[in-house]
Amino acid sequence: MNEQWIQFAERVKEMYGKDFIPLHEPTFNKKEVEYITDCVETGWVSSVGAYVTRFEEDLAKFVGVKRAVAVVNGTAALHIALKVAGVEANDEVLMPSLTFIATANAVSYCQAVPHFIDVHEETLGVDPFKLAVYLQEIAEVRNGELFNKQTNRRIKALIPMHTFGHAVHLDELVALAKKYHLVLVEDAAESLGTYYKGKHTGTFGKVNAMSFNGNKIITTGGGGAILTDDIALAEYAKHLTTTAKVPHKWEYVHDEIGYNYRMPNINAALGCAQLEKMDEFLIQKKQLTSKYDELLKGLNGVKLFKQPTHSDSNYWLQTIILDETLDRDEVLAFLNEHGVMSRPIWQPIHKLQMYKKCPKANLQNTTVLEQTIINIASSVS
Ligand SMILES: *Cc1c(COP(=O)(O)O)cnc(C)c1O
Repeated sequence: MNEQWIQFAERVKEMYGKDFIPLHEPTFNKKEVEYITDCVETGWVSSVGAYVTRFEEDLAKFVGVKRAVAVVNGTAALHIALKVAGVEANDEVLMPSLTFIATANAVSYCQAVPHFIDVHEETLGVDPFKLAVYLQEIAEVRNGELFNKQTNRRIKALIPMHTFGHAVHLDELVALAKKYHLVLVEDAAESLGTYYKGKHTGTFGKVNAMSFNGNKIITTGGGGAILTDDIALAEYAKHLTTTAKVPHKWEYVHDEIGYNYRMPNINAALGCAQLEKMDEFLIQKKQLTSKYDELLKGLNGVKLFKQPTHSDSNYWLQTIILDETLDRDEVLAFLNEHGVMSRPIWQPIHKLQMYKKCPKANLQNTTVLEQTIINIASSVS
């Protein structure tokens, strides 16, 4: 690596005013301390308390959905979203291979089978154009349901994921889901604050999931939410995530096998304080993108990834695409050695041992992008 790269690393450290820059750190101030202190002082730290309801209401309002159900993490949110969307054992669920493992695991928790499809280089998320051609070829509608002609399994749902906070081609995917009787479930884990043509992501599917893990744009420590405009589905999701207990003043009666997925009050308190800062975070993320644009000038073979024209992105993780003149692992080794934490994109899921045998489309773009994408330090602090 040459002089220009050394200069880049130095200028990033200068920008942050630190010698070591983590990939993504949370940003807290007095509000978090105030709300959490309130939980501790009143004793309401656990599974019941006012902050859970407040966080659900604030989040629903911010995103623009009728209901949000707060849960322990984004994976649990996806699991229950799929379950209430009607995904059953032995169904196939279309999803990108280029995503975090949680997307595939949530499908597995429903005893369903992930079916991997390719991504578009403009969004890094599901490519609706390739998918349209693929479904034409391998699937058929029988009595209002889609079937995979090769495996004979029902294809029940489609999960697009908004990679690093960039919205996928939602109009096309919504149309495709409608045409093929697929339930759309957005994995909006990375896209709080991202809008598609002016409408917030996580509002296009029938039921959708978000994450508030420690490294996301806002955090509740660990947490997630199920988002939907369907009130009956939201109530069912709430029931399932709270052990399916039938409301009663003292009796413990449960009417099905539920889950203990409720978000504790102390985590929701953190979430309320974080959500108040969203507008500020979004501005700072965009400023960071402009900064990197400047800092990367003069570096050959790199391109800062920018939002697709239809997306007003949250720029959760800053993304660089390397061309064929640069070796990904060399760049990563250099940056990490020089104190600027960087990482590759996830290993595509179809390559992992547990998911190797799952059905998949041609994954040409996935294979190329896997080798050329890196994320660089992205905290707003
Ligand atoms: C973070 C994330 C999730 C959920 O993760 P949790 O750690 O369980 O909150 C799901 N999908 C994607 C794409 C993610 O990035």
